[in-house]
Amino acid sequence: MTDTLAVPHAVVPQERKIVTAIPGPKSQALHERRKAVVSDGVFSVLPVYIERAQGAIVVDVDGNAFLDLGAGIGVTTVGHTVENVVSAASQQLQKVTHTLFTITPYEEYVRVAELLAEHTPGDFAKKTVLVNSGAEAVENGVKIARRFTGRRGVAVLDHAYHGRTNMTMAMNFKAAPYAAGFGPFAGDIYRAPNSYPLHDGLDGPAAAKRTIQYLEKTAGAADLACLVVEPIQGEGGFIVPAEGYLPALQEWCTANGIVLIADEIQSGMARTGRYFASEHFGLVPDLVLSAKGIAAGLPLAGVTGRAEIMDASQPGGLGGTFGGNPVAAAAAVAVFDRIESDGLLAEAERIERALRPALEELQRKYPLIAEVRGRGAMMAIELIDPQTGEYAAGAVTSIAAAVAQQGVIVLTAGTYGNVLRFLPSLAISDELIRDAVSVLDEAFAAL
Ligand SMILES: *Cc1c(COP(=O)(O)O)cnc(C)c1O
Repeated sequence: MTDTLAVPHAVVPQERKIVTAIPGPKSQALHERRKAVVSDGVFSVLPVYIERAQGAIVVDVDGNAFLDLGAGIGVTTVGHTVENVVSAASQQLQKVTHTLFTITPYEEYVRVAELLAEHTPGDFAKKTVLVNSGAEAVENGVKIARRFTGRRGVAVLDHAYHGRTNMTMAMNFKAAPYAAGFGPFAGDIYRAPNSYPLHDGLDGPAAAKRTIQYLEKTAGAADLACLVVEPIQGEGGFIVPAEGYLPALQEWCTANGIVLIADEIQSGMARTGRYFASEHFGLVPDLVLSAKGIAAGLPLAGVTGRAEIMDASQPGGLGGTFGGNPVAAAAAVAVFDRIESDGLLAEAERIERALRPALEELQRKYPLIAEVRGRGAMMAIELIDPQTGEYAAGAVTSIAAAVAQQGVIVLTAGTYGNVLRFLPSLAISDELIRDAVSVLDEAFAAL
């Protein structure tokens, strides 16, 4: 904390505490105001209106303190309102807020590019373009790959999620709610089966063979500019591919001149105990997309990759008004500092050590839990009715609603809505993890 800040850093006790019905009266009043003026197309999972947040806790306008296992979908990975990030962004806000990097540049953008070059996988010269959102990073990754290869085809995997812009709507697996009714969509997109060990039972090489055969038949390798993969699929339900799957895809891409793009928007930035989840699988992508966790909530995203690919674009072909904004870039530099100073890669591993066995214990008690999976602080459970084999989406919805009433925010996921995912801030203590799991246990028991 520096004394230059006008508002002293708030201290939010790291415990959950529910003092009203959920949502409370003030949240309900705000929700009425919102319904009059905010588009119904913008949904809120839990309409409690948040007033402040710190570490792993968010506090609503009624004074309810929630244990946040969602972190804004893995954005506040270093923790909510972490001191050094708040201070770096505040100081930058007072120095220069905007110039537009494509008019007159500034150091913070360059520093973020240096840090991304250093921490993304691969020991080769790398370059970066900064943009505002994950979807925009995906769009730019595709643009760059097309420019470099002179080809049009874009390959994606089943259960993928890449965003809500026109190109990314067409790249997602799920039509509703992301794309339904919003066409026409971008063309030249080819979808192939992924590796999903729980459901396909295939080992990595067999799953890769299936993916590759499919793409060779439906697209043809020579027409593909890029293959976009999430090393651990996010919205798809934290699907961890079988060992050897991603390296086999990489080998095929390299042999066929296809740019391999890792969408690490959800899995990157220390979440899984590595800077980027690709590292768990021996994957060295040509381009890496980062967003969510990179600036602790300030809007920033990046495409980082092989210099020769990144440089294929004509000058002026990449960029945008707000891309790599100085305040967001300063926050990102502070996030990288925080990961180092607090040993957050090891913290993500600690969280897995606490969470995985606790979830496996639940799995032994409740046969509804078909699988516990994930890496680091990116863990999930998939629910399948043991009698009927049906995806247990109803149970997932009930459990997420029940634990919210007790002050625990958990997110759902999965194409069929039958996955509960846990992606807390890396600042969460083992004690809070135990607390959250005991609340989950009660919700399963009550089901
Ligand atoms: C969230 C997400 C996106 C889209 O990011 P936005 O910032 O919401 O546009 C793309 N890919 C993955 C894997 C994501 O999790």
